[in-house]
Order: sequence, then structure tokens, then C-alpha cells
Amino acid sequence: MLIVPERDIAKLLTRKAAFEAVEKVFASMAKGAARNFPVVREAIGHEDALFGFKGGFDRAGMTLGLKAGGYWPHNMAAHGVINHQSTVVLFDPDTGRLRAMVGGNLLTALRTAAASAVSIKHLARPDAAVLGMIGAGHQAAFQLRAALEQRDLVKVIGWNRNPEKLAGLEAVAAEAGVAFETVDLDGMGEADVIITITSSFAPILEHGHVSPGTHVACMGTDTRGKQEVDPGLLARASVFTDQVAQSVSIGEAQHAVGQGLISEAEIGELGAVINKTLPGRTTDDQITLFDGTGVGLQDLAVAASVVEMAVDQGLAIEVAL
Ligand code: NAD
Repeated sequence: MLIVPERDIAKLLTRKAAFEAVEKVFASMAKGAARNFPVVREAIGHEDALFGFKGGFDRAGMTLGLKAGGYWPHNMAAHGVINHQSTVVLFDPDTGRLRAMVGGNLLTALRTAAASAVSIKHLARPDAAVLGMIGAGHQAAFQLRAALEQRDLVKVIGWNRNPEKLAGLEAVAAEAGVAFETVDLDGMGEADVIITITSSFAPILEHGHVSPGTHVACMGTDTRGKQEVDPGLLARASVFTDQVAQSVSIGEAQHAVGQGLISEAEIGELGAVINKTLPGRTTDDQITLFDGTGVGLQDLAVAASVVEMAVDQGLAIEVAL
């Protein structure tokens, strides 16, 4: 059995490798070659934490396993460690024997940022120039870095509940030589792409805040009850997701579908757009919305590629079973 500890992930997984692994696994899912198992995500009644398991099997990549972990909202303030904590466990699909344990914290941030970046690649207007960021927590800087690689952006505009936290995003934009401006939600109308990455349980982005032609990547809602955008926005948009079953149960679409504003059948898989079996954006003034719920296969794909690189570079720790 191999261990790749959290401390080594940054040396191994690049944004490019994460993007490629996620794009490939979304495509495999849409072809039916890879399957996610139902997600378990529970409030544990301690530290306000949400804990769960996301697993799956990718027959094409022969990757079987799960990510165990969740979200501890007080971690940073109380313990000085990030709020998301997770570990990926991989098994040998031929025997069920334990194959590897991989630190999942940085993997989660990179694979989540890769998912919205894949959605931008396939759904945003080619001439998108202004990116709107809603949220400025741990994930936001990863999201911004990955998005900056997808289009020739000239400006980033940001909104956060505590605007002073936007300084971190401003620094990332500055590194890339892109202007940054703090805006109120009405100012989001200037954005060609908007990423929402908050832990909100009530809509922040109203449909009147979004201009025609915008691509919105909703990345924060991954649990029943969470919500970042007005369900009316989904009714107005062409809606895509990583996986429809998750989108309607734990994703942003749970609200629009629950209120009868859109039907499950109207939600398309991003993988099908990648495979060109489903049209993505068809007009310049269409609003496209990606409901990125986060699937276990994303974690397994990046973890498997990390294990391969760790073995090649002599960084994998071998433990006898
Ligand atoms: P974090 O705790 O570091 O930051 C939380 C952010 O949400 C901050 O910007 C905070 O101001 C904002 N926020 C919290 N409550 C809010 C409210 N009621 N109204 C407006 N803003 C609010 O968290 P993080 O690590 O950056 O993660 C952000 C979210 O992304 C979490 O909800 C997490 O579960 C989710 N997430 C989703 C995926 C996925 O695959 N879809 C993966 C990782 C994380």
C-alpha cells in the first residue's frame, strides 16, 4: 500500500494535470464508462461539521475508491488548519485490496478549481474579458488562478460578505497582471464569467445581477440546503452540471427543480458537451450555468494521477499490508 501525504501534493499535482484529469473523467462519466456512487454527507452534531464519503469506479481508468472528509467551519479560527479536511483512499479494482491513501486537501481545491475551469473552457464566450468572483475563502484563490488560464481576462471584480478578505484575490489578480475591483452585487453585471464559491444557505446572486451572455459557475453548493444563486437564474439559463443526480439533490439545482422552475431533464452534463454529444453555448447572449457539485470521480482521477507521479519521483511511502 502506498501513502502520498498532504505535504507532498503541491510538489506533484499541477493545475494543468488536474484540469486534464477532470476534463477526461467528466467525458468518461458522460459515456457511461465511469460511475459515481451515492454521496453520504452528514452533519455530525460536533463542531458544526459536515462529514461524508464520495466514491466511484472509473472502468476506463481502472480507478476505484472514495474520498472521506468534509467541512469543519471553525477550523481556521480555532485550530489554525483549513476548514476542508479529506483523504482519498484507492483500492485495487481486481481484488479490493487497499492500493493507496492520498492527502485530499490540496487535491480538493485543485480538482474543484479544475471543474469550473473546464466549464469556462467549454461554456463561456470566447471573448470573455471580465471575471466576477463571489466568495473569498480558502477555495476562491484556486478558482481564480484556474479561471485566469482559460480566457484573456483583463479585469477581475470581486464581492465577499467581508470585503476586506478580497485582498487575497486582488493579490492573485495582481500576480497575473490583471486589474481587480471590489464591487457590490449590482456591479456583477459587468462580468462575462462569474464564479460563486461560498458556504451560503441563501441566494446571494439574483438573476437581475447577471447580464446576458454570462457564464456562471456555481461551485459552493454541495450539500442539501446550501444555496448561492436565485433559482430564477437557473430558469433563465442553460444549466449544465458534473452529474445530474447530484445537481438536483445537493447542488444548486435542488432549489430550482424543487420549486418546479426547471425540470431534471433540462439539465445537461458538462461531459456530454466535452464529448460533443450535447450542444453547449449556442448564442452569445445565452446565460450558461454550471452547477459544480463535486463528484467522487474527480477526486479519484486526480489522486490516481498523483500516485503515479509520486511513484515516478520516489515520493510514495510504501507500507506492507
Ligand atoms: P471557507 O470557509 O474558506 O470560505 C467560505 C466563503 O463563503 C467565504 O468567502 C465566506 O465569506 C462565504 N460565506 C459563508 N457564508 C456566507 C453567507 N451566508 N453569505 C455569503 N457568503 C458567505 O470555505 P471554502 O473552502 O472557500 O469553500 C467554499 C464553499 O465551497 C464551501 O461551502 C464548500 O463546501 C464548497 N466546496 C465545494 C466543492 C465542490 O466540488 N463543489 C469543493 C470544495 C468546496
